Amino acid sequence: MSDYPNHDFFSWGGNTARGVLRKGSPLGKHTKGARLSVGLGRSYNDAALPARASDVLLNTTEDDNLQSFDEASGVLNASAGISLATLAKVFLPRGFFVPVTPGTQFVTLGGAIASDVHGKNHHRAGTIGRHIRSLVLDIGRDAPLTCSRTQNTDLFLATLGGMGLTGHILSAQLAMEPIESPWIVENNARADNVEEFLELLQSNAEHWPFTVGWIDCLSKGRALGRGVLMRGRWAKATEGPKTVPQFSAKMSLPVTAPNWALGKLSVRMFNESYFRMQHTGSERIASPYSFFYPLDAVRSWNRMYGSRGFSQYQCVIPRAAGTQPIVEILEKLASTGDASFLCVLKDFGPCGDGTLSFPMKGTTLAIDLPNKAHSAELFGQLNRVTIKSGGRIYLAKDSYTTAKDFSAMEGARLEQFQSIREKWGLRGRFSSALSRRLLGE
Ligand SMILES: Cc1cc2nc3c(=O)[nH]c(=O)nc-3n(C[C@H](O)[C@H](O)[C@H](O)COP(=O)(O)OP(=O)(O)OC[C@H]3O[C@@H](n4cnc5c(N)ncnc54)[C@H](O)[C@@H]3O)c2cc1C
Repeated sequence: MSDYPNHDFFSWGGNTARGVLRKGSPLGKHTKGARLSVGLGRSYNDAALPARASDVLLNTTEDDNLQSFDEASGVLNASAGISLATLAKVFLPRGFFVPVTPGTQFVTLGGAIASDVHGKNHHRAGTIGRHIRSLVLDIGRDAPLTCSRTQNTDLFLATLGGMGLTGHILSAQLAMEPIESPWIVENNARADNVEEFLELLQSNAEHWPFTVGWIDCLSKGRALGRGVLMRGRWAKATEGPKTVPQFSAKMSLPVTAPNWALGKLSVRMFNESYFRMQHTGSERIASPYSFFYPLDAVRSWNRMYGSRGFSQYQCVIPRAAGTQPIVEILEKLASTGDASFLCVLKDFGPCGDGTLSFPMKGTTLAIDLPNKAHSAELFGQLNRVTIKSGGRIYLAKDSYTTAKDFSAMEGARLEQFQSIREKWGLRGRFSSALSRRLLGE
């Protein structure tokens, strides 16, 4: 991960691209084999890993320029390798923020677009794709292509959530969100079981632009799915301090934790105290860094899972399927005792227009699970519940889904995605370990 230079806002010129691009397009006709763009490597799985050792990786972070910004409209042109951390540092003092952010700032704009990321405001703002005006894409032709909702539309929509399989995003035009204050007003509420939780998420969505729930995945019986709902909104100019919030990582995990450290007992104790400890009731002012990016405060937090590592299961269950599939998944996790303390519940708004974009109207569950011998079997069981409900999994997180299960989830959308790639000559040209696993390429 690179340091984030403090850009001189007013000296941004044209695209003085560095690194990979300085040498010309790496996708020209003389190159052979598949290509894969890589951002900051924050996807949880094989999405940013090559399908074969001989494939070429395109390091997007070499080109992290802010190209232009129109303060009146909030429209930003930036290279795909710029990180959301840089955007926060540059734009918070100027009264703007990215309209959609995932739970870490250490992702590139290109990676966020390729995953069509969602945030705590999905019920209001949709995915980041909704706010992308246009993209400049290198698909290995003589000149890069501009894609938008009116130009090369099918390629544009396939690239939102296309996981790098539709070309290398060079730059994007993004509508930033104007904010009155760089501070957040936040407020928590406890939910005693899953039904109450889902009800709270939906009723609060009307009043709060940001909502997300933490679930105690080890609770059972009447307390199944209990947790804490976190709500927030940007502060008004009169509410927040006059200073600009700064990011600092408060601690670091210096060593990899032993595998036993994440046993059932330690997670149960953590969950119990976290559930009780949460400050509920009154509103308070918070930094956007702690509100949006709690894990970023602990460097190398993933070491707490020990040397075996972890995988995340994230699915979305459509609203029409009711609460039963969520209950079924939570019961399964509570009975195996596999879940860690990172379990998140969030209601989604309508589906975005990315061809393979993940969210749909319904509820998403994201659960970290330490890797174990039976993980593939467990993920398969969870997938059966998801498929039966008409739901799907998130490609930026999934590690275990098989091609058969993926096609059962995606059906017609997958066919459309593949036919767009076929039309533009992208199959075989762009691939990843993920596309080999799920698309058999
Ligand atoms: C702590 C944490 C919290 C997270 N929370 C959320 C969340 O709340 N919501 C959410 O939606 N996601 C979330 N994520 C997932 C994360 O937002 C995505 O995985 C994101 O894509 C990572 O960006 P990256 O720059 O690290 O990309 P990488 O991981 O390097 O790559 C991800 C994908 O993007 C493609 N890609 C990267 N750059 C380009 C480019 N220039 N052109 C074309 N394709 C490209 C890659 O080929 C790959 O398929 C979280 C991840 C972490 C670690």
